[in-house]
Amino acid sequence: MRSKKAKEPQGDEAIVEAFNEYLSANNKRKTPERYRILDKVLAFPKLFTIEDLKLAMNDDKFPVSTSTLYYTVDLLVDANILRSINTGNQALAFERVDQVKSIHLKCEVCGKTKLVKDPNFMAYMNARRFAAFTTRYYNLTVYGTCNDCARRLKREQREKNINAIKQIKESTK
Ligand SMILES: [Zn+2]
Repeated sequence: MRSKKAKEPQGDEAIVEAFNEYLSANNKRKTPERYRILDKVLAFPKLFTIEDLKLAMNDDKFPVSTSTLYYTVDLLVDANILRSINTGNQALAFERVDQVKSIHLKCEVCGKTKLVKDPNFMAYMNARRFAAFTTRYYNLTVYGTCNDCARRLKREQREKNINAIKQIKESTK
């Protein structure tokens, strides 16, 4: 399909090729469903859930079973094409690893991720070139503690302290 053979495939074409190689390397079948799902995934402008994907496939008149969707998305995560994000809503969300639109703030206590925009940072990283290196994608996850967890931990610590003081008072009575 490609006109210039010497040119490396770029963007979505490179991702389809990477998935192709992943399926071959892992002895997985190259079913039409899997490629249709990948096509849909690549067309998603933002985070999506399995349910979003199911609706989009139905719109396309290419309905697939929920278990096929789950399994294929698992493969795409394993192939490092997608990553999953626990935003604290019921369903896991997914996004392309190569299209960073937000910085992830991940709480190490509850595991939830908050997404924040930083256009200056994105513009800087998108323009950044490294010597003797071709960037395929980057992502930024900042690890720490969310406010909910910080408040809870503080409260628990305070209760612990109060109990400790109570015990000391009891024992010295
Ligand atoms: Zn938390």
